[in-house]
Amino acid sequence: MDQYAAAEMNFELPPELSMLKEQVRRFVDTEMIPVEMRARVGEGMDPDIKASLEEKAKALGLSGYDVPEEYGGQGLGLLAKAVVWSELGRTIALPSRNVEIFGPNVSPLLYLMNAEQKERYLKPTLRGELRWCFAQTEPEAGGDPARIRTSAVREGDTYVINGHKRFITAAGSADYAQVIAVTDRAKAAHGGISTFVVDMKAPGVKLLRQQKLVIDDRPWEILFENVRVPARDLVGKEGDGFRLAQTWLSIGRIRHAARAIGVIERCLEMGARYAGERVTFGAPLAERQSVQFALADSYMDLHQLRLMTYDAALKYDGGRDIRVEAYMSKIFGDAQSFVAADRCLTIHGGIGLTTDLPIEKFWRDQRSMMITEGPNEILKMALARHVLKAYGGNR
Ligand SMILES: Cc1cc2nc3c(=O)[nH]c(=O)nc-3n(C[C@H](O)[C@H](O)[C@H](O)COP(=O)(O)OP(=O)(O)OC[C@H]3O[C@@H](n4cnc5c(N)ncnc54)[C@H](O)[C@@H]3O)c2cc1C
Repeated sequence: MDQYAAAEMNFELPPELSMLKEQVRRFVDTEMIPVEMRARVGEGMDPDIKASLEEKAKALGLSGYDVPEEYGGQGLGLLAKAVVWSELGRTIALPSRNVEIFGPNVSPLLYLMNAEQKERYLKPTLRGELRWCFAQTEPEAGGDPARIRTSAVREGDTYVINGHKRFITAAGSADYAQVIAVTDRAKAAHGGISTFVVDMKAPGVKLLRQQKLVIDDRPWEILFENVRVPARDLVGKEGDGFRLAQTWLSIGRIRHAARAIGVIERCLEMGARYAGERVTFGAPLAERQSVQFALADSYMDLHQLRLMTYDAALKYDGGRDIRVEAYMSKIFGDAQSFVAADRCLTIHGGIGLTTDLPIEKFWRDQRSMMITEGPNEILKMALARHVLKAYGGNR
């Protein structure tokens, strides 16, 4: 019986994924970390470094790793993608959002379009001819989509869209936006929301301003004023917006968790090395218990997070609903990677705050990750609903 249990439970990656992990790790160590302090310019990348990394990623066979095979990509499963994302998380060479050296960044929502929409939007996006943005958040509606005010009213064979969006990443360079709007205010919050593809050059679309944040990203505020959208640019059916979003949000959360694995690991590497070198009061920092405990705690977090994330991704690849696992992985990963960056910063003292090292960037980025794609507190609320139901707390 013991032997049987041991054979069924296996926490190691299969050999092909261990090889993939090693391959991406080598790429990160030899090609990305050496250029990471000069690779990014503002919210984008230095064009020469970007082109060189793209070429090397292609030569290694990593291009299109996250694109399904039917669209010419490698169609990796979620566990394999989590392995790639966690290795990439070890470097700040790439922008934290809109990573593009492996081919155009494609929103998972595009794969949910109908065949005709895929021809007009998905395929040109995959060929790098069109760029997109995703517009859900509004001044009155962030984590709570029930408060969305942007409306889409049907008039003949068009919809007329009016609304104000903010925090929209890459809106300034996007050819089209995937806009979340209310089509039926009378319906329960989630049933009355729909998704549209909107041409960013359509009359009535106005880029108001680029927002400045503590991180390098510069998302946009946009206004939609009487924007006419052909009815054929509705994605799915009317009222489908929330359901469609649910099908891919879990993947985004696993991406957060996987990235956090890489951040924690790099912070451990940097923290341990510096603790061994830096001498204060006659002894290296590595001999101080407070420093040892900080490293030990981050190491435990790393192990827990890896197990949680791999478990969730494996279940997803097996066709299971991973909403709960994805909540836990994102909440824990984003929070503990921020703590790991903070601990690493403490170990480095003043130099940790400088832009000579990547630590302050990890620290800023991971703080932002706790807010985007579902703030941790809101995910915890959703997780608590599950816990109360599972353990009889719903009265
Ligand atoms: C860099 C960046 C890029 C972004 N890119 C995009 C994009 O491309 N497209 C897009 O549509 N949006 C984007 N966003 C918006 C992002 O998704 C929202 O900021 C996020 O959903 C939170 O919404 P909010 O800021 O309005 O906070 P709110 O929802 O107003 O919440 C405010 C605070 O209250 C807490 N809170 C809320 N409800 C509860 C509750 N029930 N219990 C306990 N605490 C609660 C939250 O945790 C949060 O800290 C981006 C944001 C940033 C910072």
